[in-house]
Amino acid sequence: MGNTANGLINRPILASIHTEAFRHNLNRVRELAPESKIWSVIKARAYGHSFDAALKGLASTDGFALLDIHDAVWLRERGWKGRILLLEGLFHENELVLTHELACDLVVHCEAQVEWLEKFKVNTHTPINVFLKMNTGMNRLGFKPDSYRTVFHRLHAIGYHMHHMTHFANADQVDHPPSVGAQLELFEETIAGLEGSTSLANSAAILWHRNALGDWVRPGIMLYGASPTGLFSDIEHAHLKPVMQLSSEIIDIQALEKGERIGYGGRYEAPEAMRIGIIACGYADGYPRQAKDGTPVWVNDGAKNGGGIICPIVGRVSMDMLTIDLRDAPNARIGSKVELWGEKVPVDTVAQMSDTIGYELICALAPRVPVQIV
Ligand SMILES: *Cc1c(COP(=O)(O)O)cnc(C)c1O
Repeated sequence: MGNTANGLINRPILASIHTEAFRHNLNRVRELAPESKIWSVIKARAYGHSFDAALKGLASTDGFALLDIHDAVWLRERGWKGRILLLEGLFHENELVLTHELACDLVVHCEAQVEWLEKFKVNTHTPINVFLKMNTGMNRLGFKPDSYRTVFHRLHAIGYHMHHMTHFANADQVDHPPSVGAQLELFEETIAGLEGSTSLANSAAILWHRNALGDWVRPGIMLYGASPTGLFSDIEHAHLKPVMQLSSEIIDIQALEKGERIGYGGRYEAPEAMRIGIIACGYADGYPRQAKDGTPVWVNDGAKNGGGIICPIVGRVSMDMLTIDLRDAPNARIGSKVELWGEKVPVDTVAQMSDTIGYELICALAPRVPVQIV
């Protein structure tokens, strides 16, 4: 089914968001981190999957973690009563009143934020939970260990409910075992004796560093069924399901003679007479222009077993279209369904063929692609 306007089926591209896969992946996090509560990370429109779909599929999470206070407003308007964590805290002091009204938990990562909180009169009946961010080596946000305890005590003394947070830089380095060790050690040393719950683990740590989970885990990418390393092979046996399926159709077929070239720049030359399928999906839909020849596209070629067949991209991806080699799919025709990524073609495989990671592709799904929540 495509984009419908006045009952007309329009351009056939579609992103289907499978809420059942969300539920499956969230359960998988619970199995891996049974002692921890879960902040489901839904920044960037739930990694491109839409807030609507995330709220539906991840409703049994303990809390949602996001960046933008407008999205917190939206969640409350939609009836979400659980916890909300603003992952980068306040961007401006004037957001504080609203954050408090919305009962958001705040990350505090810099001195300016501490000063804003010091000026704000805390209502002790509805205190604010602060996840104080420690910079243990990522060197992006947070207080270095030598100032961390002082800041902790400043906010604790005036009634904020204090918790501890850090973020790993290398939890995805599966082959280098001490990848979180030094950061974890520093974190634990620094908070020794302080009250408050802890939050450390992103998806990579949940999957591969079970010693570093803490009281609240913060899975993002694994909830969407993609790989923290960018390599599908690393999650192949992790029992995760892709949530987004990007699909379209063949809208034309060209018969090429040996030696003819395809598309802009003529990157691909036909080695023999062959059929080329033209697909309604291009970089303006979020498909990476960098995709090399050979990037897989799954084609439903009408085979009775429903298996379909993988056909490689040939020629450069353009704004609205891409082109595939149909030599292995003699039954493919105009109207044949294709999957660009999803269950048949891992988004990480497309990403790898495009020198990036699955995160970037799903987040960059273009607004013009209709989203269907199933
Ligand atoms: C994005 C983010 C996460 C989630 O990371 P994944 O690799 O997607 O699991 C966790 N914590 C923080 C602070 C983040 O910004």
